[in-house]
Amino acid sequence: MKNLLLSVAIGDIGGSTYEFDPQTDYDLIDLEADGSDYTDDSVCTFACAESLLTGRDMGESLWSHCRQDPNRGYGGRFRAWLYTTDYRPYNSFGNGSAMRCAAAAFLAGSEDDCLAKAELTALPTHNHPEGIKGAQATALAIYKLLHGATIEDIRRDVLLKYYPAQNFSYDQIKPGFRFDETCQHTVPAALITFIDSTSFTDCLKKAVALGGDADTLAAIAAPMAYAYFREMPDSLVRQAKRLLPEWMLKINDEVDSQFAKIGSATT
Ligand SMILES: [Mg+2]
Repeated sequence: MKNLLLSVAIGDIGGSTYEFDPQTDYDLIDLEADGSDYTDDSVCTFACAESLLTGRDMGESLWSHCRQDPNRGYGGRFRAWLYTTDYRPYNSFGNGSAMRCAAAAFLAGSEDDCLAKAELTALPTHNHPEGIKGAQATALAIYKLLHGATIEDIRRDVLLKYYPAQNFSYDQIKPGFRFDETCQHTVPAALITFIDSTSFTDCLKKAVALGGDADTLAAIAAPMAYAYFREMPDSLVRQAKRLLPEWMLKINDEVDSQFAKIGSATT
């Protein structure tokens, strides 16, 4: 598989025009709408991947890449953290930990390794137990799907294990879905959206159509959908490659080649 980490950016970009202009009508959602662009979800995802690939300090990697690209819609507390002179974690359980963890799944050699790497991506800021849990549940779902899990496995072993009160379908959560940037709200919604989707594109449009934190919901669900359906439309791949800066495309390629090496070592 190629463009693993790019899948996150494709979700982010596809939802980007809807974050502050929600659209709940599925048929009106255009993942290539005018003004679509990458946001904080992509910057943070590729920064975390860089740290996992190179051993660069996770906090420093986030700090430097985000500060170099400041107008990407960072949350208020995260933005304040970016401009402090040290980087002490602030116990967040915002969905920022779930949106940036995907490389943990692509670079892991086992489920335990995936969980440990996901925790590393959360810790610089999202050291609250729910922040860490959001990253681990997201990364574990992606990891399991890359390694042959079924949709039912994800419902049972990720959604209901991490969020036992969330035994709902997409159609049950959509009415009255609200904008809520916590992991506890966003991660189960992204999992449920993936579980009830029929293709990569369907998953992204359903994530956006919840009318919530659209780019982040799509960025969390997209790598799950790619790991399961194993295809992404060429037009969305092209759009992401046109919009993302060179350093992210380089990290994307490095994650792909590292994933291929891990795959050939374990099979
Ligand atoms: Mg965003």
